[in-house]
Amino acid sequence: MARVYNFSAGPSVLPEWVLQKAASEMMEYGSSGQSVMEMSHRSSDYQAIIDSCRQSLVDTLHIPEDYEVLFLQGGASTQFAMIPLNLMNGSGRADFVLTGQWAKKAYQQAAKYGRCNVVASSEDGVFSYIPQIDAQKLDPQADYLHICYNNTIYGTRFPTLPSCGSVPLVADMSSSILSEPIDVSKFGLIYAGAQKNMGPAGLTVVIIRKDLIGHARDITPIMLDYKTHADAGSMYNTPPTYAIYICKLVLDWLNNEMGGIEQIQKINAQKAALLYDYLDESKLFSATVQGECRSLMNVPFVTGDKDLDAQFVKEATAQGLVNLKGHRTVGGMRASIYNAMPVKGVQALVDFMARFEAAHR
Ligand code: PMP
Repeated sequence: MARVYNFSAGPSVLPEWVLQKAASEMMEYGSSGQSVMEMSHRSSDYQAIIDSCRQSLVDTLHIPEDYEVLFLQGGASTQFAMIPLNLMNGSGRADFVLTGQWAKKAYQQAAKYGRCNVVASSEDGVFSYIPQIDAQKLDPQADYLHICYNNTIYGTRFPTLPSCGSVPLVADMSSSILSEPIDVSKFGLIYAGAQKNMGPAGLTVVIIRKDLIGHARDITPIMLDYKTHADAGSMYNTPPTYAIYICKLVLDWLNNEMGGIEQIQKINAQKAALLYDYLDESKLFSATVQGECRSLMNVPFVTGDKDLDAQFVKEATAQGLVNLKGHRTVGGMRASIYNAMPVKGVQALVDFMARFEAAHR
């Protein structure tokens, strides 16, 4: 078996411990005589799995009691509509920080439902930095302030959270959740597609302050009302059962095999430093993001020469370092180094970059 180092932005690498555990339980989960994939979501065996996944997430992120954890479908993209449908119910206005394509999509979708105000944007610099937010521009009556905390495509991350007083802060954490401890109490709502740091595609996790549930607009489809899912323990309809099971295994791995979220944060910082330090010294490659806005999860870089970039990606692939091609809007390369990417994977990448650089100086 020759497993590659997979630097995909998502779906992305999963811990081998998780894959092996899932494989060992594929034909029979416990003494149930069936795979988790075949199980009724109404069975007691499955109820124990979803309960354990929820509890593990609560424990890992220290989610306070006044928050609900929801296991949904439709990807982070469905949240772009679900959030305004449920939260834009006071002034009918919301504030947005534009830090990339996903933040922009969230803004464009919400603009169908109310008045959306862009309070800061880094579009002028191809989203290569996190803009300062002028407190004067924040609407104190806004129903929420939306940010994309970690920008998967551009490789930026908010160095500090904006302070928005009593206005609920809503954050897309698709590409950073579980990579570092977060103070959930600072947010009204956190959402994340699972396919980067939590498990396979198909599961979307929403962590929402309970007082924000139950105010959906009349036009809101039942399936897009947070209350529907909160009242039913995320079992209003068939949840993405297997993805939730894998998410539970990922949390088991994180807590039992890796030493917990504080420890994984240290490892993530170590991996990112390995790559950024090399990039900062390199005469061939350079990082597209500078300073404190750098993401620890997604690291875009370029040589400045499109043909050389393509050659690098091709040769890296032949070395088992795959999915390094940058997003089409940025070009160059991008290494996504989520929790499940081992330090030795990043070391292998840096070693190959050094060899490539020596050959192309
Ligand atoms: N937000 C961010 C930050 C993302 O990286 C992505 C997907 N890469 C999305 C939203 C969209 O997620 P989905 O495909 O789950 O709808």
